[in-house]
Amino acid sequence: MNISCGLDDTTPRATLVTWAYTTPACVLRRLLGGDGQGFDQGAPLAAMGCFEGFRCADCGATVPEVVATRCGACSGVLEGSYDLDGGVPSRDTVAERTGGWRLPELLPIGPVKLGEGATPLIEVPGVADELDVASLHVKDEGHNPTGSVADRGLALVAAAAAARGDTRLALASTGVDGQSAAAYAARAGLDARVVVPSRASFVTKAMINVHGGDMRVVEGRFDDARAAHAAERDDRPAESDARFPAGPFESPYRHEGVKPVYHEIVQTLAWRVPDAVVVPVGHGTVPVGVRSAARELAAAGLVDGTPRVYAAQPAGCAPVVEALTGGRAPEPIDHPDTVVGALEVPDPTGGRWAVEAVRPSGGAGVAVADEDALDAAATVAHHEGLELGVAGGVAAAGAWTLRERGELAAADTVVLVNPVAGSKDADVVRSRLMGRGL
Ligand SMILES: [Zn+2]
Repeated sequence: MNISCGLDDTTPRATLVTWAYTTPACVLRRLLGGDGQGFDQGAPLAAMGCFEGFRCADCGATVPEVVATRCGACSGVLEGSYDLDGGVPSRDTVAERTGGWRLPELLPIGPVKLGEGATPLIEVPGVADELDVASLHVKDEGHNPTGSVADRGLALVAAAAAARGDTRLALASTGVDGQSAAAYAARAGLDARVVVPSRASFVTKAMINVHGGDMRVVEGRFDDARAAHAAERDDRPAESDARFPAGPFESPYRHEGVKPVYHEIVQTLAWRVPDAVVVPVGHGTVPVGVRSAARELAAAGLVDGTPRVYAAQPAGCAPVVEALTGGRAPEPIDHPDTVVGALEVPDPTGGRWAVEAVRPSGGAGVAVADEDALDAAATVAHHEGLELGVAGGVAAAGAWTLRERGELAAADTVVLVNPVAGSKDADVVRSRLMGRGL
């Protein structure tokens, strides 16, 4: 790209600021220089520590380079393959690092950075007492730049797209990851095409616009948006406009980017592996990422053992939980109906892999009523001060059910993942309180 635009070291700052509003971020980045925090576009693949390439989870085919797809041989999900015998840093080395991404050796590419990661692991002793478990912690992913765990995966997606020379991230979204895609596209100097259902929250739709995303709102629910997005893709093949598929499980980066969630959990727990991690499940990237990270850390000798991973879903849309309970593969839900918009994914692309992340961990699935999820979010906010999104409320309510079923034990250290900031769902939780006359 030609960056000759008359700016030099003597250009007044006011001029630079004005000009910045009309200039692509990639040009700004080159002019202003990387600071190691904001405009790090990702290291070349060969430089990423232990990363050896991608491997198909189904047929074992290997792919050595930056990819934008699933397995070319069988359409299976690709996952990172790492040399865990050498090059994994010690606990002390990791402890000396700050910020997010403290184990870049276990990632497939360097991220585009916006300050994501290093989210707090907050102990909630009052809830632990009520639940009668040894300790209960919430990994609050609401602290990420756009308020959701999706930021971690989109940080890698944007880096991969830039590395391939693609110019546009494209996805269908329930809303939350569309906002994240628009933000990271802006950060990387890319465009974003986001197709959302009309049911997506006002906040996410507004912020997709604010980030400059090219948004299309489709009447209906997520599957309607996904169908519209697929039609766009079929009408205009990816190679014609350099689109990078940014949806969950369309490339390996979304679920690989989740792995630091688990890295941070065990580091914060002084390298003790929790007994159980309860994860709200929509598309399934979080349980897949958590399970991959758990297996890799154990194989590398950084920790002993792996946690049981539990999938929590709203009862009105629980294809992964029903598959786990029924001992079968996920089947689409014909009439999804839940107020938990981020989890209303009736036919999750990664459903089968989510099941395969949970089952061998010793975990299980748990479905909860919307009312219980809303009450759980309100209870934790009221008694512990911690704001959970309604998806986090699904995890909290699920933990109660799991304890009643005996899946969680009194001696357990339990971690709940809150994937979306509570403030994104303020209207939904408050409406529940008003419905109860509060
Ligand atoms: Zn394959």
